[in-house]
Amino acid sequence: MRLVGLLRGRPVRDVVVWCVLGAAAGYGAVAGGGGRDDEPVSGSGIAAPAAGAALGPARGQEGASARRAAVARRWGLAAPPLRAPKPPSEKPDLVPARRAGGRELPAVVSRVPTDQRVVFLTIDDGDDKDPEFVRMMRELDVPYSAFLSHYLAKEDYGYFRGMQKLGTGLHNHTLNHPFLPGLDAAGQRKEICGQQRNLRRETGRRPRLFRPPYGEYTAQTLRIARSCGIRVVPLWTQEVFPDRMDHGGADRRLHPGDIILTHFRGRGDWPGSMPDVARRVLRTATEQGFALARLEDYV
Ligand SMILES: [Zn+2]
Repeated sequence: MRLVGLLRGRPVRDVVVWCVLGAAAGYGAVAGGGGRDDEPVSGSGIAAPAAGAALGPARGQEGASARRAAVARRWGLAAPPLRAPKPPSEKPDLVPARRAGGRELPAVVSRVPTDQRVVFLTIDDGDDKDPEFVRMMRELDVPYSAFLSHYLAKEDYGYFRGMQKLGTGLHNHTLNHPFLPGLDAAGQRKEICGQQRNLRRETGRRPRLFRPPYGEYTAQTLRIARSCGIRVVPLWTQEVFPDRMDHGGADRRLHPGDIILTHFRGRGDWPGSMPDVARRVLRTATEQGFALARLEDYV
């Protein structure tokens, strides 16, 4: 039943999908809560300044909390985002798909196997390039990951390099955003491996993560993706819009390890801005006791 939910009603066809939810069993939460000390910190004053430290740890902490609350209010949030616990020292075991010959294919993941109360925000395509969004996430110190299609990102890869410098992972979402199962092997290779090359050139890194457009792929897609360096194919459990969040699960709640999908879109595309979408995600997560964590720390 859960597998059906993960596939969002898609027929399995010849797709080899390994549901990794079961892998959560035996994966214990890592005690922590000390915040992500390795996060890049903006100049917004979120980090405890030296003056606070001089007043003693308790006073310094109080000051930092007050500053975080003030930053949150400035971005229209009643409460600051919850701090993510320390990520696991070892990434959870993902179950890779296997081709008939025994060679591993990339692991397909809709929910990260973890017991920690963390969820992951992922943003696709790359059309809207709103600097306010980057500023908001930097000031609130909230991680997210981007999956870029070249035909949209190429207008300004510099925008995405800016978020990369702040710690955001930039990943593959094909050249032209096609329905991959409708292409032959050569066409799929061009779309996936071509974008690997573009991203390596533009960002200095060859992605390990790939998200097929519309979440649609076949076993052939996975084979091709693996051949050009992809190790993980993150799908999603929720999709968020400026005015709502669509849940894959019947209980309409967030769960540990959920992957939330949204898009780089602005007011020209839907009723709101990227900061509006971020506010919806953050309010929902905070109300339900979840922190946003960095997907690349887990997969
Ligand atoms: Zn897309």
